Amino acid sequence: MLRIQGNRVLENDRLETIEVSIQDGKIVNLRAYRDLQVDLPTVLPGLIDLHVHGGGGADTMDGTDRAFETIARTHARYGTTSLLLTTMTETIDRTSEIIDRAHAYASQYAGGANVLGIHAEGPFIHPNKAAAQRMDAIVDPDPDVAERWFRTGFVKMMTLAPELPLAHEVAVIGKKYGVLMAVGHTTASYEDMEAARNFGFSHITHLCNAMNGFGHREVGPIGHIIDNESYTADLIGDGRHIHPAMLKALIRSIGIERLSLITDAIRATDLGDGEYDLGGQRVTVKDGVSRLKNGSFAGSVLTMAKAVANLQTLTGVSLYDAQTLASTNPARRLGLAHKGRLMEGFDADMVAIDPRGEVLWTMVDGSVVYQNQGVANEREV
Ligand SMILES: [Zn+2]
Repeated sequence: MLRIQGNRVLENDRLETIEVSIQDGKIVNLRAYRDLQVDLPTVLPGLIDLHVHGGGGADTMDGTDRAFETIARTHARYGTTSLLLTTMTETIDRTSEIIDRAHAYASQYAGGANVLGIHAEGPFIHPNKAAAQRMDAIVDPDPDVAERWFRTGFVKMMTLAPELPLAHEVAVIGKKYGVLMAVGHTTASYEDMEAARNFGFSHITHLCNAMNGFGHREVGPIGHIIDNESYTADLIGDGRHIHPAMLKALIRSIGIERLSLITDAIRATDLGDGEYDLGGQRVTVKDGVSRLKNGSFAGSVLTMAKAVANLQTLTGVSLYDAQTLASTNPARRLGLAHKGRLMEGFDADMVAIDPRGEVLWTMVDGSVVYQNQGVANEREV
């Protein structure tokens, strides 16, 4: 039995010292102390990223075990304990191949963050909102193809444009297989959003990005999610994809319970500035922002730990709320009943951070998969 101590975050950012006992990858006991031990690190439930293209020089579309492992290990260093490998718009055959290879890889844990499954971002998206997705591989929704992918049980989330022909049919099939059906890369209007929810769409991918904006007469997906509670959404928390004022407005008007943080991280994540490939397109990373040649944003080089820190500084939300957006809510959206909280019976997925939000160590299923060697005098876990 492994025992660790740390300070967990309660509502209003009150800290509480706890001792967590771990056995067989589970939290079997959690004891709270009456007195706070201030020198212990802050411990959060492991961060869960619904949208990861790559990191550490690797991309999901590389399709090799080595690439998948590099991504999983890179993001674990920044507090991510579970993630969805996210495909870019590619040919149906190539996408099928990537799904199968990632599935085979994930059936045996190889290190770093847990690979929960695939998030298929495209190819059923609207060409006018392709952003950094490859135009020539975009196709109309195909229910047969979608069903083949969903039947693997490994595709956990799909982003598509609900206004395209047969998108509703795809959503109905997705819902049957328990896939999180997300609106994204879309020209959807308020009315399209209303229609889509009746067929099983329940989430919006990188709200604000690759969709119509929030006009006062044409309110689009942003107006829909503010106006009623049928959708949840995720946000890229780098402070660049969405203006901090808009982030604040969204959190206030939608509420903490329906939002998640994502990275939309690409290959260049953790590599620094330079020129990189993204799904066959050239992107330039400069000052932490990744762009195509035409200047449009192309994914991000964000990490979940950074997203949690950003959200607090940019919008003033508490660490408790940030942890809800980065762990509790994505766990709930993926139907993971034993992740997203520090509680008895839950998986021992945790991340310890210092007061600046830097990751000290990351634990996946009770094993420390990353320990920050740069932090002096840090006690061993
Ligand atoms: Zn993406």
